[in-house]
Amino acid sequence: MDLYSGHINKLIDELSGLPGIGSKSAQRLAFHLINMPKDKVARLAKVIIEAKENVRYCKECFTLTDNELCPVCANEKRDHSTIMVVENTRDLAAYEKTGKYEGIYHVLHGAISPMLGIGPGDIRLKELITRLEGNVSEVIIATNSSLEGETTAMYISKLIKPTGIKVTRIASGVPVGGDLEYIDEVTLLRALEGRVEI
Ligand code: ZN
Repeated sequence: MDLYSGHINKLIDELSGLPGIGSKSAQRLAFHLINMPKDKVARLAKVIIEAKENVRYCKECFTLTDNELCPVCANEKRDHSTIMVVENTRDLAAYEKTGKYEGIYHVLHGAISPMLGIGPGDIRLKELITRLEGNVSEVIIATNSSLEGETTAMYISKLIKPTGIKVTRIASGVPVGGDLEYIDEVTLLRALEGRVEI
């Protein structure tokens, strides 16, 4: 495609590598960026680099955060004996938005998917098991209700069962294949309240 300048082509290439950005959107974004005032482009670039350099994993729950401990883990008023296992930071944020969950989290950063070659060793499972050595009374598995989410839930429950710690799964009020982050707060709360022991 030599219709555009080499620089624009490069920009389109990079943008189309982002999730949810097809080649048409990448072209639209590229031209938008080129037409933006230079200081705005510089600010955008700076914010991206600063986020990349300063965001890290919470040393307790592994969510993405600016400090050693995320605000949830650092909050002593939270129930630190109840751990909700979620696939990613966006799912954590979805439950936090309900404002009704008192426990803490564990972020896996993915789900087991034999099809994609993602095994138990590729997500933060070992770290979860290490956390169970502390004072934990319940693990709530809130992975998505996709095939991968269910596979992961099953795997975790089998792993935890021998420890005697209570393991629950959020209710299936969450639509099959539904990503937690897109589900409204009422449905999320209902799923949490209706959780069953597995
Ligand atoms: Zn944390």
